[in-house]
Amino acid sequence: MKILKFGGTSVGSAKSIQCILNILQKRYYSGEKFIVVSSAMSGVTNLLTEMAFAASERKDFKSGLTEIENKHFSVAKELLEIKNQNPVLTQIKLYMNELEELLQGVNSLKELSLQSKDLILSYGEKCSTYLLSQISKQYFPESTYVDSSSLIKTNNQFGNAKVNVEKTEYLIKNYYKLHSDKIFFITGFIASNEENRITTLGRGGSDYTAAIFGAALEAEQIELWSDVDGMLTTDPKIVKKAFSLSELSYTEAMELSYFGAKVIYPPAMIPAFRKNIPILLLNTFNPDFKGTLIHKENIEKNPFPIKGISSINEISLVNVTGSGMIGEVGFSGRLFSLLAREQINVILITQSSSEHSITFAIEPNDIERAKNLITREFEMELQTHKINIPSIEENLCIIAIVGENMKQTPGISGKLFHVLGRNGINVHAIAQGSSEYNISVIIKKKNLAKALNTVHDTFFIELTKTLHVFVLGTGNIGATLFQQIQNQSNFLKENNDIEVKIVGISNSRKMLIQENGIDLIEWKAALNEGNQANLENFIQQMKIMNLSNCVFIDNTASPDPKKFYKSIFESNISIVTCNKIANSSSYKEYKILKDTARKRGVDFFYETNVGAGLPIIKTLKDLMNSGDRILKIEAILSGTISYIFNNFKGDVSFYEVVKKAQELGFTEPDPRDDLSGKDFMRKMMILARDAGYTTEEHEVLLENILSENCINANSVDDFYNELQKSESYFTEIKLKAEKEKKAIRYIGKLEKGKVSINLELVDASHPFYNLSGSDNIISFTTERYKYNPLVIKGPGAGAEVTAAGVFADLINVGTE
Ligand code: ADP
Ligand code: ASP
Ligand code: MG
Repeated sequence: MKILKFGGTSVGSAKSIQCILNILQKRYYSGEKFIVVSSAMSGVTNLLTEMAFAASERKDFKSGLTEIENKHFSVAKELLEIKNQNPVLTQIKLYMNELEELLQGVNSLKELSLQSKDLILSYGEKCSTYLLSQISKQYFPESTYVDSSSLIKTNNQFGNAKVNVEKTEYLIKNYYKLHSDKIFFITGFIASNEENRITTLGRGGSDYTAAIFGAALEAEQIELWSDVDGMLTTDPKIVKKAFSLSELSYTEAMELSYFGAKVIYPPAMIPAFRKNIPILLLNTFNPDFKGTLIHKENIEKNPFPIKGISSINEISLVNVTGSGMIGEVGFSGRLFSLLAREQINVILITQSSSEHSITFAIEPNDIERAKNLITREFEMELQTHKINIPSIEENLCIIAIVGENMKQTPGISGKLFHVLGRNGINVHAIAQGSSEYNISVIIKKKNLAKALNTVHDTFFIELTKTLHVFVLGTGNIGATLFQQIQNQSNFLKENNDIEVKIVGISNSRKMLIQENGIDLIEWKAALNEGNQANLENFIQQMKIMNLSNCVFIDNTASPDPKKFYKSIFESNISIVTCNKIANSSSYKEYKILKDTARKRGVDFFYETNVGAGLPIIKTLKDLMNSGDRILKIEAILSGTISYIFNNFKGDVSFYEVVKKAQELGFTEPDPRDDLSGKDFMRKMMILARDAGYTTEEHEVLLENILSENCINANSVDDFYNELQKSESYFTEIKLKAEKEKKAIRYIGKLEKGKVSINLELVDASHPFYNLSGSDNIISFTTERYKYNPLVIKGPGAGAEVTAAGVFADLINVGTE
């Protein structure tokens, strides 16, 4: 015989009850014996609770009554044949009348005892189970409605009553013996005390009812039918990547459900465990799902270090501190017996080893009561300042990682705290059960979704890690980056377990934010339909969304975004950028950004600030981190100027080469932006700063290639005119170079902390002599690379290589 318990959502509507009937018919016609336990229709227990409180405050409860009546009537009318409807509607009406009378009583007395509340709540289960039994009777005539309150006996702890197991099992067995030819439809959740007053078994208690019947009748299996595919790795309503577990031990299920996985009520495990009866969690709406089996020991090997993550969405912390607690025998005993006596459920306790403080978590509803009780009980200690007035922290939640594997695997808690820290989630308190089956942390409620998602990504590593990305700038580099991400997404998922989700895109005209990710094939059209761009607002939304593994990419050349960098880091968001303005403004600004990123444990990657995709910044960082010392850096970091001097040969004039370079798109619209050397200077400053110097712009010795007149010309055309006039200057250099068999190079140097950029003639023995096209080259002379410098050479400009550099930085976020 099996017990089949259907939860609130399974009996919530005619459509869902139809699903139950299909399940039952299959069992019935295959000759299986079963007993059904049913919860109240979804939402009804909550509604009854609200109505009871409303009545006690003389507020309206009648609309609730109508709502409950309608809910049941509409199911009855849809699923009962007309000839069967009348008696059922009458019975429900009778229940409603009784309920109204009770609420009226509460209303008159202006008082709601736990006892009356239980009686009121019991109507939820009575109505739904009676209705389900009568609908089922049309298919299985043996169907019989059973009010469990006459069979489950408890103590007087209304609201969360404790079962008298012996008596209950005796009553159930006897009842079953007498009616073994029937199919029982049993009310979940409700029971009664010695005086036959109704009690309830705690919220979610129908699971417990099923287990109590299962144990008493030594059922072959207890099936709990709900609206999800069994127990998932975490709450599927918060983490989309949560997946179903095929099995759990009783202990694991107990730990997960204790900390919020409400798909099963923790006490339900006890009778099942006692009689070694497996519990199977099933989905009423997906009958093909095989179920999560909860039994004594796991059979399969779990490939992950933990089994699941659960959460309690809202708790408050109470801190009791004071020197008087040190060495005081029995202090915590007194404190916790007081709370237990007054039925305040303590969810979690931590005590510092110095015994100077005790912190415990309780439900927010209990806060006022707890505070008052403690101040009364410890009045003496408070007056003599042995302890302080309890302090309260609110708007918190708990997340707990659970699993039997944790015991054998070191480093789990380190991993948990690391990932929370990286995402800017502060841990208020920690508790680890001595069983080592769970580690619980208390965090701010607003961080719950982010924490669950990141922790899930971290521990179920075979799952893809998702980077949530906000991109500023859709010019050449931005557009190329989207294309590259799009082309590479499958590869990244399969080989690196990384999913890049572009959540926000903005340029100077439009902005678009889509939490589920923007389709990178259609991004242009979608962005056009987006809102008017507003940088501040874009960044604000990014912060508010508080997504896990969040990265901001600045693909612009604008001076505006850098204003927000610091606050972005402070929101624990990493930045990847090819925009060099931030790093090459004042040294102070550079330092603040670096320090903030480091303190927040987020990344600030800007490889493309120097030499596009060439690994220059990274190499310098590796040299520095590994303890090497930079003696000298020499570099050609302007692709445009390289191109110009590489082609300034033979008969062509300097003017012609510049003009050609512009036509080929190798220069900025105004070629002076390149030829002024300013861009080059910025790159050299960034290198110098990364090499440990405090270089400022005014300290750089920059030799101008252009004459004053060229620089000051009013327009690009005027500039070209002036350039033609200074031709003799360039011809002279060219002739000199040709005569000496040298090449003209514009070289940046960092030596003894000084940055200079000069036009130089280098001979064939110089490593920079053979530089073709628009290549960049850099040589690092260091303590280790003293006689043979470390040289990096390659294409240092262009949308493809720059976007690829940004992309590489993005993928590296969070890996170092
Ligand atoms: P029922 O009414 O069937 O008893 P409950 O609402 O009590 O159902 O429990 C099912 C709900 O538990 C799911 O809808 C889901 O949102 C929630 N839940 C929380 N954590 C988990 C988890 N780890 N696995 C499955 N469900 C979970
Ligand atoms: N109806 C009760 C509740 O909502 C019991 C249950 O659903 O298990 O808590
Ligand atoms: Mg439930």
